[in-house]
Amino acid sequence: MRYPQIRAFTGEPGVIRLAGHRGARGVLPENTMEGFEFTLNTGVKLLELDVTATRDGVVVITHNHRLTRSMVRDAEGNWLQGEEPKVAALTYAELQQYDAGGLDSSSAYGQRFPDQAFLSGVRIPRLADLLALLQRPQHQDVHLFLEIKSDPDLLADTAARQRLVETVVADVRNAEMQPRTVLHSFDWDLLADCQRIAPEMPASFLTQLPENDADVGEDSSKEVNPVAGCSVLDLPARVATAKGQFWCPYYLDITADALVLARDLGLTTMVWTVNEPEDIDRMITLGVDVICSDYPGRVQRLLLKQGMHWLPAAER
Ligand code: MG
Repeated sequence: MRYPQIRAFTGEPGVIRLAGHRGARGVLPENTMEGFEFTLNTGVKLLELDVTATRDGVVVITHNHRLTRSMVRDAEGNWLQGEEPKVAALTYAELQQYDAGGLDSSSAYGQRFPDQAFLSGVRIPRLADLLALLQRPQHQDVHLFLEIKSDPDLLADTAARQRLVETVVADVRNAEMQPRTVLHSFDWDLLADCQRIAPEMPASFLTQLPENDADVGEDSSKEVNPVAGCSVLDLPARVATAKGQFWCPYYLDITADALVLARDLGLTTMVWTVNEPEDIDRMITLGVDVICSDYPGRVQRLLLKQGMHWLPAAER
């Protein structure tokens, strides 16, 4: 196989792989070291995370392009007021003034995750911080869906987009994490840059059909995801034509026929973000390769209940 890292993401009879979405967003603050460490300590071997860059070119792990008042407090501990600052307009040092350790329960976003622990003094981490953690001996088998978020204000700025990819790839290469990383995005043009700049890493194509609404309270990736007018059965071929290795559909979009098509095309299929027990069970029955969830513990329990596991016996 050209990409040995794909094995760690591939299901088999009795095994569906499990990825912690932004760590384990359902139970701990998303995209934080606290959340990643918790997820790893529960035996989850795949992490999904989102990255963008600060003004001074530091790759940081955060989902939205602006610090969002439902999930970020200022240095005094107050929820952000006024205009939400853009991450790309702040230096890394400035970003460290903010606290990303909890959700505002009165916000729509906060209400989506009522069980998320409320921490204080939590900083938005650098990608390099997570990659350093993964150097520890007990984490040598952990692999990443590294999602690059394209800046909606710079969609036409080819040089800036390329610079972002180069900066992210440089961090991964510095940590020698290419053999454990998949580059993941809704922005298929950005993935083409990834394939050119970092051909040693597989490309993972996210899709969400327009009929399924974007999630409440977070940045939408609609404008960069070129699937308007497609049916779900078109998507695997589109990914294969773009020379992707992974197809990552929204769980409400995927069908059994589409999964067969993807498999015939040699694609690995990951579904996101599957949180409700009945939906997790449906994805287990369908037999996807990877389930990505805000509640990795739920997926573990439901797999075990069926005599299945998220790791092959040899990897446990
Ligand atoms: Mg993501």
